[in-house]
Amino acid sequence: MAEYKSPLTESEFEENFSQIKPLMNSTEAYYESSRCLFCYDAPCVNACPTGIDIPLFIRQINSENIFGAAKTIFDSNYFGHACGKVCPTEVLCEGACVYNHSDVKPIEIGRLQSFATHKAIIEEKIFYHPLPSNGKKVAVIGAGPAGISCACELRLNGFEVDVFDSKAMPSGLTVHGVAPYKIMNEDVLDEMSYLEKQFGYRLFHNTTISAKEDIDQLHRNYDAIFLGIGLGHTSDLNIPGENLGNVFGAVEFIEELKIHHHFVKVPKKVIVLGGGNTAMDAASECARMGAESVILAYRRSKEEMPAFDFEYELAKSVGVKGMFNVSPLEVVSSQLSVVSGIKFIRTQTINGKIENIPGSEFFEECDWVIKATGQSKQTSLLNLIGGIQTNSNGTIVVNEYQQTTNKKYFAAGDAVSGGQEVVNAVADGKKAAKGIIEYLQRDGR
Ligand code: SF4
Repeated sequence: MAEYKSPLTESEFEENFSQIKPLMNSTEAYYESSRCLFCYDAPCVNACPTGIDIPLFIRQINSENIFGAAKTIFDSNYFGHACGKVCPTEVLCEGACVYNHSDVKPIEIGRLQSFATHKAIIEEKIFYHPLPSNGKKVAVIGAGPAGISCACELRLNGFEVDVFDSKAMPSGLTVHGVAPYKIMNEDVLDEMSYLEKQFGYRLFHNTTISAKEDIDQLHRNYDAIFLGIGLGHTSDLNIPGENLGNVFGAVEFIEELKIHHHFVKVPKKVIVLGGGNTAMDAASECARMGAESVILAYRRSKEEMPAFDFEYELAKSVGVKGMFNVSPLEVVSSQLSVVSGIKFIRTQTINGKIENIPGSEFFEECDWVIKATGQSKQTSLLNLIGGIQTNSNGTIVVNEYQQTTNKKYFAAGDAVSGGQEVVNAVADGKKAAKGIIEYLQRDGR
């Protein structure tokens, strides 16, 4: 296991969670931007869900027009700074960079992006001036990447926008769910304040929309409603012992860590159940918090894991061990109702289906169990609204304008995709804003 001591102070926490994409200085940015070939029909642009003109902003950095570069980025992606740090650039823009064909390190697009946008944020450079009010009001439920992106685009076009969020801080999973070694909360929140100041949407924190009266009020007071409601709590596994005290949901654990840093105490042995990117983050975080043994247990083979390869490599680099083709049967407790381990059974995949191998049960000791096995959908809210069709997996059905089957409601983000990257939510939130504009301008609605 890698040598991470349990952090006792904020500076030890920051050391353990040092940024994997640290901010470039201007000399680094200049030299890195000099390497770009400014490709025609650049594949990096095609690989970016928000379609940022990457060669243009890199050229602007190279000619020392840093604010120009920042504007190029924000014009396509309101979360330009966060995305430079949290995007899986390895499989998006940087993965598509032509240098990969020559076995040369691709351009560090993400870090260049954060370099330019960081300067604009810190120096409070104003790029956008919303049009005067057109008298139309839109409610946005959820201040995550989709909701904020939608709000910015609507405000730019003169709509009044009120954003309601159940949490105390905006940006959804960007602040609550992304591992601290990718981005620190203060960076996320600086970008959120920067956007709020420029676009002037009203943000109502600690405001949960969950009752029929809340919905009825929004329905009466707004011309359109955007749902950026994300996903719910970690889903149950339905195995004995999963309600014991030391069994946690991955999303809930990551959120706790993002807020309370070194005050979270992680024990010696942790088992993380799951094979997605959230499982990788939770496992890596436990290792960086000083756990002596972190096992990532997945029901299928390593090759079948949905996590990106680089995320698994990152987890392995801090000492996380993978255990594949195993399924949890029971979380076992000691007499004091404290988790003592998990009873597993080995599995095999036959014709795409997982089958338990009879007689292969075994016990693996641990102090904590973290479930990273998917999140529930926000179906109760959707049922209150009514008329919103969902897919068999509970995600919201939308058309090409992100409009739901209840015409006044639009949706984007994880509640529609089932769980994608921040950059996808940003792109779809903006698309929804365009859909709302079209809907409200059609027939003079
Ligand atoms: Fe520059 Fe690579 Fe994009 Fe070409 S593909 S424009 S070299 S970043």
